[in-house]
Amino acid sequence: MTVFITGASAGIGAATAHAFASGGHRVVLAARSADTLADLARSLNERHGENTALALPLDVTDAEAHARAITDLPSDWRDIDVAVLNAGLAKGLSPVWENTVEEVNQMVDVNVKGVLNGIRALIPGMLDRARGHMVIIGSTASHFVYPGGTIYCATKHAVRALALGLKQDLHATPLRVSLVSPGLVETDFSLVRFSGDAQRADAVYSDTVALTPEDVAEAVVWATTQPSRVNVQEVLVTPRAQAAGGAIARGDEVLNV
Ligand code: NAP
Repeated sequence: MTVFITGASAGIGAATAHAFASGGHRVVLAARSADTLADLARSLNERHGENTALALPLDVTDAEAHARAITDLPSDWRDIDVAVLNAGLAKGLSPVWENTVEEVNQMVDVNVKGVLNGIRALIPGMLDRARGHMVIIGSTASHFVYPGGTIYCATKHAVRALALGLKQDLHATPLRVSLVSPGLVETDFSLVRFSGDAQRADAVYSDTVALTPEDVAEAVVWATTQPSRVNVQEVLVTPRAQAAGGAIARGDEVLNV
């Protein structure tokens, strides 16, 4: 399969690229950090064979650039079988009226419009080929809301609606749609949320056991490798220590299991 992944330069996206490449699939790596993508592509090509990975620098908030990035792919990379729309972020942790306009716009632009741009860029080609699987990365925040996370949760609720609506629109076609919604995963997510404040970011993962990005990648690979009659509509996967968005157990009882 040829797998297109947004947010492939870090965290869940990078782990997903490793997982597909390890399974013998080819990966198109999209994100803004061109150098990191080039390094990842080089290392995957060295490990799994030439032509395993292609770096595709892209800002998913730019609808035109997103569409062009897909149509301008080299011809042997253009037939995307699986698209993992994973790029996303949270900015700040504050009461909804205190989120800055910039924070709000960034979350809406990347998490909601970015996913929509991916859908618009990729679905027509999949329909032409009568083949394709769209995987969208949601969150427990697609289901629950926690204090300080209202805007992020609102965008992730919207992402879930996009995935469910896309499935409705495609149900009479050969295409498949899956939403993979993780709970707490230890990545750069909190570092981005707190604008580089490592101490604040580390506290999110301290004294508990979060998911690893590889745990989520495994769910993505599983959802996309079922028989063609099967459509995994949603995977909701949390750490054992997490019940819902904000309910995360911490301390010895979690750590010593
Ligand atoms: P991460 O390590 O910070 O990775 C985020 C990725 O998104 C990076 O590759 C980043 O690359 C990319 N990205 C950000 N803005 C972009 C843009 N405008 N255009 C293209 N790429 C962009 O975070 P993560 O935890 O792996 O997050 C991945 C997804 O999982 C997100 O949708 C997040 O909401 C979701 N999620 C995370 C958690 C968690 O606890 N970590 C839980 C539930 C859901 P560049 O900066 O290079 O562009």
